[in-house]
Order: sequence, then C-alpha cells, then structure tokens
Amino acid sequence: MRDTVQLNVEINDLTARTEILGISKDVAAATVKTPGSVQSVTTLREDVHSALATRTDSVAAVMKEKMDSYYSVPDNVDEEDAFFVGDMGEVIRQHIQWKEMLPRVEPFYAMKCCPDPMVIKTLATLGTGFDCASRTEIETALEYGVDPSKIIYANPCKQTSHIRYAAAKGVHMMTFDNADELRKIKQHMPNAQLVVRILGSDGSRSLCNLGLKFGAPPAIVPSLLQVAKDLELNVIGVSFHVGSGCFDAQVFGDAVKAAAGVIEVAKDFGFEFSMLDIGGGFPSIDDLIPSHIRVIAEPGRYYAASAFTLAVNVVARRAVSRDVKNVEDLVSGEVAVQAPTSANDHPAFMYYINDGMYGSFNCITFDHQICTPRVLAKNGTFMFGAETTEPEYPCSIWGPTCDSIDCITKEGSLPELNVGDWMYFDNMGAYTLAAASRFNGFKKTVILYTNTYKGHN
Ligand SMILES: *Cc1c(COP(=O)(O)O)cnc(C)c1O
Repeated sequence: MRDTVQLNVEINDLTARTEILGISKDVAAATVKTPGSVQSVTTLREDVHSALATRTDSVAAVMKEKMDSYYSVPDNVDEEDAFFVGDMGEVIRQHIQWKEMLPRVEPFYAMKCCPDPMVIKTLATLGTGFDCASRTEIETALEYGVDPSKIIYANPCKQTSHIRYAAAKGVHMMTFDNADELRKIKQHMPNAQLVVRILGSDGSRSLCNLGLKFGAPPAIVPSLLQVAKDLELNVIGVSFHVGSGCFDAQVFGDAVKAAAGVIEVAKDFGFEFSMLDIGGGFPSIDDLIPSHIRVIAEPGRYYAASAFTLAVNVVARRAVSRDVKNVEDLVSGEVAVQAPTSANDHPAFMYYINDGMYGSFNCITFDHQICTPRVLAKNGTFMFGAETTEPEYPCSIWGPTCDSIDCITKEGSLPELNVGDWMYFDNMGAYTLAAASRFNGFKKTVILYTNTYKGHN
C-alpha cells in the first residue's frame, strides 16, 4: 500500500516535469524504475526550464529565421556568427527508442560526449542515469538534480581528491581496472560499490579504441578480485566499453561473453555480482546474463549526435585551378575567377568558414568524424534540406584560425558559394561542443534550442 502511494506521488511529479518537455505520461511513466529515483522540478535550473518550455519550431524554421535576420541586417556582425540548432526533441525521441528497443538496459548518459546544459536537463528530466568521469562532471549532474545513486563514476583512474568529493556527495558506484586504484579507493571510499572494467574487445572495430588506455584483461581479473577481497571492498559488477563509435555488433556479443565469465569467476572470491555495465551500444544480452543482474549502459553519442545541426558562414574564399593535386599547392594555384566557358573550366574553391578544428570540428581530430557540408543559404535563397540540381565543384573547407591543420575537408564538392553564403552540417552533437577551444580568439559557437517532440503519437 505504502509503495503504491509512493509511486503515485512520483508519477504525478513526473507528469509535472514531463509537461515541461511535452512528453506523454505513459512514456514518462515507463522511465520510472526505482521508487525514489525521481527528482523534483524545483531542483532544476530555471533558465534551462524556461528556455525549453518556450520554443517548438522545426530545425528548418529556426535556421530560416536566422537567415532572414542575417539577410535583413547584413552589416550586423553577430548575424554572421556560426551557430548550432539544438533540438531536444531528438534527445527525447532517442530516449523513447531506447526504452522500446532495450527495455532491460538502463542508460547512464556519458556526459563527456556533450555536456550541454539543455541535453543534461532533458535527460535528467527523463530520468536517465549519468556516467561522470571527473569531479566537475559529478558536480554538474548533481546541480541538475540527479540523485547520487543514478551516477556512475566511470573513470577507472581517478584523482584522489575527486574520489573524496564523490564520497562526500554519496556517489558510490565507480569503476576500477587496476590494483593501485583499489588501494586508493580503500583509503578514500571504503564503502564504494565497485565495478571492474574489463577489456571487452581489441578496439579494432570502433572509431576510437579506448582499450589502449583502460580495461583489465580478463586473465588478470581474478588477481584484482583477490586484492579487492583482501581489502574487504565491495565489488558489485563488471563493465566494458568496446570503444567509442563501435560499428560491429559482434564485438558486443564477445564482450558480453567475457563479462559473463567474470560474473562466474567473481563467485569464487565471494562476490555475487548484481550489475553489468555494457558501456555504449546495442547488444543482445538475455541469453548470457542472468535476469537478476541489473544491466546498465553508458550511451553518449546515441543521445547527443543527431540533436545538433551546425550552421557556418563562408567568411572568405579563394578560387584555385582545378588541376591542383596537392592540398599544399592549393594557395599557389590561385586563379582569377572569370565567367567560365564550360564546367571543366570552372575553378575549384577553398572556402574559409567561421568554425573549425579548434572549435566544434575538433571531432575530426578526436573522434575521427567525417563532416559533410550542405548548402544552407546561397545569394539570399534558403536551401536547408533542399535537393539542388546545381552543378557541384571540388572544394576544400578551412576553419578560421591561422593554423593549416584547421581543415574540415580537403576533398568536398558543393555548388559554387560566395563569401557571405552559408553551409550546414548535420549530426554535430557528439564530441563537438564538449572540447571546443577559443584558440586564436574565436569564440565558441552559440546554440539556439528548440524542442520538436510533439507527443508519443
Ligand atoms: C566515452 C565513453 C562512453 C560513451 O561512448 P559513446 O561512443 O559516446 O556512446 C561511455 N562510457 C565510457 C566509460 C566512456 O569513456
């Protein structure tokens, strides 16, 4: 009886919270797993709340509005700045899809992927957990009202003072993959709920191989468990991360098998595991992992990537001869642009845009992304999402800084653009804003938020 009352209170609270996001009650209710896991609206930051509540335009409409104001006040400097459109509706739809496809797996959002306040707020409101790797990330999650029990400190090599901070805040779940870490944890958080991170794969089937840095080979796991037992620490589970951006589902299968082995081995040391953490991805786990074991995951890009679209302005251009083969020779291949007599006479272009490798496009270096430009606006015509029949010409695209590594693409193809025209890039939410710098005095790209989620049906 008490439990029913408790749950009703939570669902009412959740309804209030989800009205902010426009999510239907049944979907939201499906996110209530454990009584006590729901946060109150009043703990969420007001600015984020009101910004989310106000705007529901499509991404195209937000882009259009910006272009209209750019073309009506062409000399207003700010109108020229690059900008993102962040669609929180996309985050919500990804969450609903997760709940439908992976009902057994609790998502703990990997905050490093995109620590954008609105994304965090949206996911906190939806009731996901959070994967944090540092004191600041933990602080941020707590600031948005996330319960400490819904945070996993998923960094196997932690700074001692950060462990003490986590202990003080009641964040008890954390990963480890080496014996020295266990000794540190014994000293600073002897009551930690530990998760052993194993090397789930060789990383060769992922965009970013995280196994070079983290993860205990399954063969040494018994010795680690022995150390944990001798120190009287509590190991509650096993985790792996197959590498960020894994493109081979088989890798997950193998990693889940390895984890199942570790769950068995742990019994020899007196540890009855209650948790499996499968990092980021979509495996099938039911045949291998007993049903009493709680399964969590740490998706990052799954939630963030598609939610952000980046718009950039062509701030400068150089026409170069089309037969220049090496990027190094491009500048010296500069030609005067005359009206070309045929497409073959047409020059290639070097476009210089106002966001680059040191800003949002750091994903090219750090996340091995390939970013494909599309035309947003040309000579005052809005072209977002439009199919164009215009001929395309070879181009390279360069960021705004004075460093020549600041190149977004060496071999692109676009209709001819002029200085002042705009391009856009889809799927720019993952590992973009998160590590953007202000190198060379270029400011970070601003975000315009919208929420296109229209309800469940
Ligand atoms: C980066 C990271 C993630 C998120 O990976 P995605 O590819 O963005 O899903 C999850 N867990 C850990 C431990 C990570 O380091």
